Amino acid sequence: MRVARVRMRMRKPVGSEGRQERGGRAGAGAVVVVGAGPAGVAAAVCAADQGVRVVLVDSAVRAGGQFYRQPDARWGARRPQVLHHGWRTWQRLTARLDAHLADGQVTHLAERHVWFVERAGGDGFVVHALGGSGQDRPETVRGDAVLLATGAYEKVLPFPGWTLPGVVTAGGAQAMLKGGLVLPPGRTVVVAGTGPLLMPVAAGLAAAGARVGALIESAGPGRLAWGAAKVAGHPAKLAEGARYAAALVWRGVPVRTGHAVVAAHGSVRLEAVTVAALDAEGRVRAGTGRRIACDALAVGHGLLPHTGLAGALGCRIEETAYGGWGVAVDGEQRTDLPGVWAAGEASGVGGAELALAEGEIAGRSIAARLRGREPDRRGCAAAAGTRAGLRAFARVIDGVYGPPAQWAERVGDDTVVCRCEEVPASAVRSAVAGLGATDLRSVKLLTRAGMGWCQGRVCAPGVAGVAGCAWSPASRVLAQPVPLAVLAREEGAAP
Ligand SMILES: Cc1cc2nc3c(=O)[nH]c(=O)nc-3n(C[C@H](O)[C@H](O)[C@H](O)COP(=O)(O)OP(=O)(O)OC[C@H]3O[C@@H](n4cnc5c(N)ncnc54)[C@H](O)[C@@H]3O)c2cc1C
Repeated sequence: MRVARVRMRMRKPVGSEGRQERGGRAGAGAVVVVGAGPAGVAAAVCAADQGVRVVLVDSAVRAGGQFYRQPDARWGARRPQVLHHGWRTWQRLTARLDAHLADGQVTHLAERHVWFVERAGGDGFVVHALGGSGQDRPETVRGDAVLLATGAYEKVLPFPGWTLPGVVTAGGAQAMLKGGLVLPPGRTVVVAGTGPLLMPVAAGLAAAGARVGALIESAGPGRLAWGAAKVAGHPAKLAEGARYAAALVWRGVPVRTGHAVVAAHGSVRLEAVTVAALDAEGRVRAGTGRRIACDALAVGHGLLPHTGLAGALGCRIEETAYGGWGVAVDGEQRTDLPGVWAAGEASGVGGAELALAEGEIAGRSIAARLRGREPDRRGCAAAAGTRAGLRAFARVIDGVYGPPAQWAERVGDDTVVCRCEEVPASAVRSAVAGLGATDLRSVKLLTRAGMGWCQGRVCAPGVAGVAGCAWSPASRVLAQPVPLAVLAREEGAAP
């Protein structure tokens, strides 16, 4: 398998000529794995163990994905493990990955952003990526099969003041810490929103020396108690939650459940937030607003799967049985498109351990199917059992957390809801009330909300909430912005 700059005029997929077996059993085929998080790495090593050649393509500098995000090796972090949970699992996995990198069975293409995957003329797939510091160097990789292990990204809903400097996403704050070894700028940070991510973020920031003014979770105590009772059969998960809770108590971080940040304040940058108690409908309880001085706010409202590449390929995207959306997969993690697998949070949000189990199942399935065989059911049994248990756990978690039902009522008319195009909530409301828009597409055409750089990836759930219309993952041809020069070259227009 070769990687090269291409001109798409060459209709023959790169790598199809002179493909060499680099170790492993002849005829085992080759898979391109997009995403080197827990799912992608687990799949890559399992497939490589069985003699499949693997090209692991990832946009980050190092393998690890969101959960095992690490600083650049050149920074010489002596104890990166202190920022991680489940580090030994990752060490075992990376030892296997390193062995396969050394024997040439796996090639890791870091800092490559995949923008499109297409079926090759005859068989197999061509994966189009951008490399280089400006993400403008086109590369393609050819494989007989593709695994989409692209993970998830954060959902952030608008509220008054959310665009102020100093407001970051919860995962963004964590990424700054894990990947950059820095804290969000400021002296006091408030962590807010909803979801199981908030506890590790607040605990991690506090352990790294930040003053965490409060953790504000909108799920109420009743919901949390219901969830705790439901997950009694998952003692390891309960223990993990208890450890984070104990760490917050130990560091003196006040935790408010059933509360929300209803506004962020500041003239030039964030200076304070208003926090209020919510009723059972998710509305603010009158007279409960309280101002907390802070200069950083880390906020998140859950995760959304990266389904862009799968959608462009034509894979079915659907609501999963355990909450939220994902690429539809069968028991082997195969999508409905022959030759394309999906694993980890791309196929449904459920945590890093679930991603590892799904990655293992996908890797084994790919290895078997590329040889025209059925996967060894017994070999997959342990991972399949883990997957079933963790999906049941994810279903409970989905029932506990979620943005308060009436969150959109608190978005003031002058609050910007689409940051790229600077569209205020008033414009969205007028499109609905005055111009008759009933769906997200009409709102976009009438207001430009979602037409900017992010193409709605960030703002669409918020715009849909304010408009009162349904949201589902959009299907776009390009998974990320691509320079026109690259597209022109792909057509062979440029010399
Ligand atoms: C911001 C954030 C923070 C999180 N923090 C925690 C936490 O603290 N604790 C916890 O339990 N769970 C956390 N999670 C959830 C956790 O990350 C996942 O459960 C787990 O990492 C999922 O593994 P994955 O392999 O499916 O995806 P990921 O770990 O997300 O890995 C996906 C990989 O694909 C790459 N990728 C995506 N699209 C492309 C593309 N087009 N081209 C090339 N590469 C691409 C990404 O760079 C990434 O490396 C977090 C999730 C997010 C989004």
